[in-house]
This record gives sequence, C-alpha cells and structure tokens, in this order.
Amino acid sequence: MKTLNLFVVTWSLASFCALSFTICVIYGLLTPHSLHMHEFLEMVLPAYEWGSFPLFFVGLVESFLYGAYAGLVYVPIYNFFLKKWDPESNHTQYREEKGFRTTAKTEMDRVCGMWIETEAAKGTSFYKDETYYFCTEECKAKFDQNPDYYMVGVEGRKP
Ligand SMILES: [Zn+2]
Repeated sequence: MKTLNLFVVTWSLASFCALSFTICVIYGLLTPHSLHMHEFLEMVLPAYEWGSFPLFFVGLVESFLYGAYAGLVYVPIYNFFLKKWDPESNHTQYREEKGFRTTAKTEMDRVCGMWIETEAAKGTSFYKDETYYFCTEECKAKFDQNPDYYMVGVEGRKP
C-alpha cells in the first residue's frame, strides 16, 4: 500500500466537488421544480442562492473548497492509519528506523541469521551459483568451512 499524495487527492476531491456542484445546477435547470436539489445546495453552501448567476460562482468556489478541505483532512488521517496497520509500510518504516537505505538490497547472513545490507557486507562467498553475504569475516570463515551446514535455516540446524 502506498501513502496518498496530499496534493493529488486534494485537487481531485476539490475538482470532484466543483464538478458535482455544476452538474447539480445543470440538473436543476433541466428538471421540474419538484426534483430540484437547490434547497440542499443552499443549505450546505453559505451565501449560495438558486437562480442568481453571479452566485453560481460563489457556490462553485465553495464546493471546490469543500473538496479541498476533505482532501487536506482525509489524506493525513489515511496515511496515519496506513502507517499504523499496513504491514508493508511498517516494514519500510522499520528499515528506515534501522538506518537501512530503502533502496539497498538486504540479505540474511546464513551463519548468524542477521539481516545485512549487501553493500555493507564484511564478506561474501560464492557457493552453488549463489552469492552469500556475511556480517563479519568470522561468519564468512564458518560458512566457507561447511557451507552445506549453513544452507539449512537457523532454526532447523542441528549442532
Ligand atoms: Zn554474521
């Protein structure tokens, strides 16, 4: 899940509201009085009055601002809960807190089970068409002595 872009959402919602308002007014002009929505529009848009052409623009600006308001308030709330509950973004946050560059590739050190950035690895070994990364020279040395032993996950390993 990606966080929402405040600018994009705010503009979209504001345009959506302004367009909806325009559609409502056009709808009002085309339909008989009993089907009109202008009472509702007058209620939610202060200073707007049905039938006055200059006030149409007041209503248009007001609906635009309504949408902008929704975007400005909604986006930070959405992003707040996304950070809180979305496991993927938590993972990214975790990496950032640990000082990993988010673009950096991480691999598990097969010997001690620690996650390390491949660029920062103190040693690497090439074994059966794969490169393995290690946090220290010692981990690399252990691996090189008995690579097959370390092919098994840390938990499944027998001493
Ligand atoms: Zn290690």
